[in-house]
Amino acid sequence: MAFEGLSERLQSTIQQIKGKGKVTEADIKAMMREVRLALLEADVNFKVVKQFTQTVKERALGADVMESLTPGQQVIKIVQEELTHIMGDEQTKINMSQKPPTVVMMVGLQGAGKTTTAGKLALNMRKKHNKKPLLIAGDIYRPAAINQLKTVGKQIDIPVFSLGDQVSPVEIAKQGLQHAKEEHLDFVIIDTAGRLHIDGDLMEELSNIKELVNPDEIMLVVDAMTGQDAVNVAESFNDQLDITGVTLTKLDGDTRGGAALSIRAVTEKPIKFIGMSEKMDGLEPFHPERMASRILGMGDVMSLIEKAQGQIDEDKAKEMEQRMRKNEFSFNDFLTSMDQMQNMGGLETILGMFPGVNKKMLNNANFDERQIDYFKAIILSMTDEERDQPAIINPSRKKRIAKGSGRPLSEVNKLLKQFNEMKKMMKQFTGNKGKGKKGRKGN
Ligand code: GDP
Repeated sequence: MAFEGLSERLQSTIQQIKGKGKVTEADIKAMMREVRLALLEADVNFKVVKQFTQTVKERALGADVMESLTPGQQVIKIVQEELTHIMGDEQTKINMSQKPPTVVMMVGLQGAGKTTTAGKLALNMRKKHNKKPLLIAGDIYRPAAINQLKTVGKQIDIPVFSLGDQVSPVEIAKQGLQHAKEEHLDFVIIDTAGRLHIDGDLMEELSNIKELVNPDEIMLVVDAMTGQDAVNVAESFNDQLDITGVTLTKLDGDTRGGAALSIRAVTEKPIKFIGMSEKMDGLEPFHPERMASRILGMGDVMSLIEKAQGQIDEDKAKEMEQRMRKNEFSFNDFLTSMDQMQNMGGLETILGMFPGVNKKMLNNANFDERQIDYFKAIILSMTDEERDQPAIINPSRKKRIAKGSGRPLSEVNKLLKQFNEMKKMMKQFTGNKGKGKKGRKGN
């Protein structure tokens, strides 16, 4: 999980000041020392750290805080506001062209996740903004790059324009754009070449493409795992190409998070998206405020709700709710809910977004995400009849199910027991509280 160390340290610092009825200058100074160390350790750019701690200190020492009834809370609020501020305050969206197609040029070093992000962005634009995207294969130097983009395109059913690797990228971009106009495709994403390091030839080529296509967005893709390097790369690309936005990839890894906290302040260019998985649906808009809350352990309930809305099929959910109320919840429903949970990133990810849940608690709870796969295997070995009426599962059926799923008999028993307990709980819940109350808000 990203930001783990930073989160832990900031949260423990916050705990110390949280309930204080009186906060002295010495308290603030001690706190800021801790915060400074935590940020530096998380690989946040030192200039950003300096600016941040200075601002927080000045604001925290102001009379309105020191003389307030809840100075501890006020200081925490300031930390959160300033964290949000260095990450860019508001969420910044993709620049859309008034005159379609919108043209996005993806740039970045090799391996940063450009091709993957190009695909994710195309999918996101189609799903969330009803766009008709075209991917243009402009990386002619890495032999596998064109095929990789074609594979991505096929996977998400989005057209890919390519002229092979013998035509110049500038020409490919030009013809690709023409193609998009002819086909009435309104969102063009150009994948460009990356190198392992910044180099002059590459920058010149990218500048040439930029000049020709006049993109609405130059999206720099950087790998969050590379920490300070990501910030240096962002600075160089910005100096040479005047980028318009950043996508920070691999935030699902255990990056210390410095890049997320430094890029905006160093380049003055916004992080627009973050990559949260290798999968095509693993791109999320970057919300500075939510990220700050997440880092400070205040939870990110908004993202959780959006995630659920994106993953859960409303009709299916309603049907399931009905069956729960009638006490007809079956193993097939159980299977669907486990799939949905996995689609949302697994139990640990979901719980991690709740306020007050920190890494230590999750570690202590000792989740084994594989358990869900095991349960799924067991259910898949049941017949339809058994899934609908688990009561008919007698010892010989149990044995067959265990054998079919490759799981021990004790686990089949455990699942049946848990399922029965769950049904009992549902019955209680829907029986006592369900009456007269709406199941979900907002319907
Ligand atoms: P490119 O050279 O910049 O085009 O990079 P690729 O798109 O080929 O990505 C390099 C590797 O990073 C691939 O294995 C991707 O699956 C992986 N990757 C890209 N974005 C993410 C992300 O957000 N999270 C994770 N975990 N992996 C990612």
